[in-house]
Amino acid sequence: MALYKYRNFLTRLSSINYKNYSATATDVRIVEVGPRDGLQNETVIVPTDVKVEFINRLSETGLKTIEATSFVSAKWVPQMSDNTQVYSRINKVPSISYPVLIPNVKGLESALSVGAKEIAVFASASEGFARKNTNCTIEEGLQRIKDVVDLAKKRDLKIRGYISCIVGCPYDGYIKPSVVAKITETLLDFGCYEISLGDTIGVGTINTMKDLLKNVLTVTSPAKLAIHCHDTYGQALVNVCTALDFGIKVADSSVSGLGGCPYAKGATGNVATEDLVYLLNGLGVNTGVDLNRLIEVGQFISEALKKPTSSKVNKALYKNLKPV
Ligand SMILES: [Zn+2]
Repeated sequence: MALYKYRNFLTRLSSINYKNYSATATDVRIVEVGPRDGLQNETVIVPTDVKVEFINRLSETGLKTIEATSFVSAKWVPQMSDNTQVYSRINKVPSISYPVLIPNVKGLESALSVGAKEIAVFASASEGFARKNTNCTIEEGLQRIKDVVDLAKKRDLKIRGYISCIVGCPYDGYIKPSVVAKITETLLDFGCYEISLGDTIGVGTINTMKDLLKNVLTVTSPAKLAIHCHDTYGQALVNVCTALDFGIKVADSSVSGLGGCPYAKGATGNVATEDLVYLLNGLGVNTGVDLNRLIEVGQFISEALKKPTSSKVNKALYKNLKPV
């Protein structure tokens, strides 16, 4: 009996979270979405030269994926109206991927005209958000994505899928995890190599994330998933940790915590990349990103926007604590 109890104790010990981090998340790939998700949702329109320098500087931090821009209509998103210039002018480091966000076939044709190699498509898990953001139902949105994906596959592009409002929506309230699972399955069937699960308005908590991920992992494996957390309620980092616990090894973030959501009043930007890297460094998880360089890029873009950074790490006094 005593031995049984001891074994039971050992089993529980081995399933404690920190064990999981070191066992399953030795490497995490960060997808930097600041130049797109971030700047697209800032009210200040950043000059093209600054965007190009911003992305070039990000390319020197060790990041492996930097979402460069979006090919949505300039009428709807004036912040991204210089998409072709930005994409053409940035230094494209061969080892770095520079995906661009694509809403429809017209956007894809523009992206192809400047030589985009990887695209991201986006679906919504909420009818209310789909209507407001893309003026169609979830189902119609998926059909639009299929048209984009079919053409992109013919051109040998890599395709990443986003699902927005995975936990909650400003119009429809909480979202059923089964809806997110179904859309994940559909996007993977279309041919996306990875699905980024987006808590667009940052309302997720550990428990809602767990419920969601348990559901989504009935249709796919953690290797096909990424997590994309906004920090409206200050829960983004714990939600990322929850995703790591489930074996997810890709996290989206925005340097300086840029962005927000134009359709959700009060929603803040993505988790700051600086804070995410600090968290992962502390867990002994390798990201390949140089935190000091990243902090400098965060300062550069905050100055350009004339807006204080949302990164706690960037504001912190003791960035370079010497080991004792
Ligand atoms: Zn986002």
